[in-house]
Amino acid sequence: MKAVRLEATGQLSLRNVEKPAPGSGELLVRVEACGICGTDRHLFHGEFPSKPPVTLGHEFTGIVEQIGPGVTGFRNGMRITGDPNISCGQCPECQRGRVNLCTNLRAIGIHRDGGFAEHVIVPEKQAFVLPDDLDPLHGAFCEPLACCLHGVDLADIRTGSSVIVLGGGVIGLLVVQLARLAGATKVVLVTRSAEKRRLAESLGATATADASDGDITDRLTSPHGLLPDGADVVIECAGVAETIEQAPSLARRGGTVVILGVMPQGVKTTIEPFDLLFREIRLIGSFINPFTHRRAAELIASGIIKVEPLISRRIGLGEAVEAITNPARPGEIRALVVPGLG
Ligand SMILES: [Zn+2]
Ligand SMILES: [Zn+2]
Repeated sequence: MKAVRLEATGQLSLRNVEKPAPGSGELLVRVEACGICGTDRHLFHGEFPSKPPVTLGHEFTGIVEQIGPGVTGFRNGMRITGDPNISCGQCPECQRGRVNLCTNLRAIGIHRDGGFAEHVIVPEKQAFVLPDDLDPLHGAFCEPLACCLHGVDLADIRTGSSVIVLGGGVIGLLVVQLARLAGATKVVLVTRSAEKRRLAESLGATATADASDGDITDRLTSPHGLLPDGADVVIECAGVAETIEQAPSLARRGGTVVILGVMPQGVKTTIEPFDLLFREIRLIGSFINPFTHRRAAELIASGIIKVEPLISRRIGLGEAVEAITNPARPGEIRALVVPGLG
């Protein structure tokens, strides 16, 4: 079968590999779609730890084609979404219930073969059923949505909360929808892209702001701004130093800042500890999707989260290497690899 292999940092290729067979407790899944995520580009550039050689792709959905010995909850023909993050269940962090912080964490598409291939092996405990009549491409949004759910949970968004979302990519546009569902009455998305601002408004943002138009903090939190006291919650979804530095100043006194965007490992940025102390700002990191994948699957299955407008292009495995090794195209939100396209 065809697979997109990270051979080493900076070396990605489409190769023919042996079609895998499911081991005990595992499913062989025919991949219907797998999203290209910023993390895949970080992995290619060596900016996120991985274990090559490995097939990339951690945002996959597909059809169970073969079940391994001992599998009880699945049968052939079921559509599933895979939670790529496999925790050990035994380390001190797992025993505390903090499975995303597992010291032995292994991820499908990072440490073991992933979904940029015709088939992928998924342990039964990592698989969640999706409806037969769901658009097969929509399941590829369960993984990013599960990560956003964790961030929104940590942010403790309440009915009537105000939220500023920094960044208009797939994460920002999913967070806007989750914040509204959680009951936020003011949800302001900040991005440079006019197209993404329009999209955010159609997906539930109550207002948007152009990040390139002067001092955003001054504009949003001045006496005549949209949120003169600042926001209850600021969620950084862009993964760039500028917005991380900006985020605390957009929060109200006692407000919360959640870092959901992934910056390259090793990059440092400036914050003002006095301001965090004096205004009691909570600054929280949000890492992957502990116990949120099932809820993400429910939300995608229900259709309540709109993902169709987030699909910028569908490509075959033949075009995947070019798409991953280059930056996302201008205005692109999500490119999906659809192995069925060739
Ligand atoms: Zn991802
Ligand atoms: Zn563990």
